[in-house]
Amino acid sequence: MEGNAVILTADFGGTTIKLGLVRDGRIVARTRLDVVPSRPMCDQLEEVASLWEKLLESEGATLRGCTGAALGLPFFADRNAPRVRGEFGKFPGAADIDYGAWGHQRLGLPVVLENDLRLAVLGEWAAGAARGRSEVVMLGFGTGIGCAVVSDGRLFRGSHNRAATLFGHTTVSFEAPVSRCGNIGCAEDLASTATLETRARARADFATSALARAEKINFESLFALAGKGDACAQALLDESLSVWAIVTQNAVLAYDPEMVVLGGGVLRSRDVILPFIREHLSRHMPGLPIELPIVVAELGDDAALLGGEVFFRQSHPSS
Ligand SMILES: [Zn+2]
Repeated sequence: MEGNAVILTADFGGTTIKLGLVRDGRIVARTRLDVVPSRPMCDQLEEVASLWEKLLESEGATLRGCTGAALGLPFFADRNAPRVRGEFGKFPGAADIDYGAWGHQRLGLPVVLENDLRLAVLGEWAAGAARGRSEVVMLGFGTGIGCAVVSDGRLFRGSHNRAATLFGHTTVSFEAPVSRCGNIGCAEDLASTATLETRARARADFATSALARAEKINFESLFALAGKGDACAQALLDESLSVWAIVTQNAVLAYDPEMVVLGGGVLRSRDVILPFIREHLSRHMPGLPIELPIVVAELGDDAALLGGEVFFRQSHPSS
């Protein structure tokens, strides 16, 4: 393998860390490891580094032949340095690490770091559902609601490097109770896996619903039972669909994209979700009519790995 242009990429998710060797928009080798939630970030990083080395070895390459590394993390990234801002109850110690110094010492390579969904939108923009576009909004529906934006072919970052990242916390109901984050009526508190079971159990019709006997209360069981005519599941699903549609419309109003890309496991039910959102926008979007494709992400777990290469090369244009 010609090794001198490889970028090492890693995408730190809630349950697994995906790893890849990426070159010219192609993942030439990949692996993954399970996340142990209590394991300190410095130990996770060491495991990532040694797995990259094993991947390189399998390709007949070494760290010395690589150009750099890109990390996608479920946090805010500092705009000017590869560091994480804030503690989010995951990957303990993540905010204490200087990832640039770590990369220099452990890998002998420069490291870039960004929010995981931001790397995913770059991947979809470069090689997936949004290739050829320059203004793209990506929304991720699932455990929470994530948002990331490409504008003029680059990440839209904002003055604190948080632009779009907290879009799931936009208020969609000012009469709702205070959300987990302190805001009122957050979208992601009204339509995400994290709160779905609590919301289901709070309903008067929960006891008579098949949801009460479901092994797990998640969007998969919700879609399945709503499809069978379960009124409680249908009501919860209707609420979630409305929230996803409102969030999509709000993001379109804020960022004026050429295309909206939707990601997340719930899009397995795209046949329900896409028509609902399109219909909502066609009825309620203020302003002049626009042609706006709303599509499903194409790259799955590969998006952030491929986006890591894009982000590294945009950050180090001379390398
Ligand atoms: Zn919130």
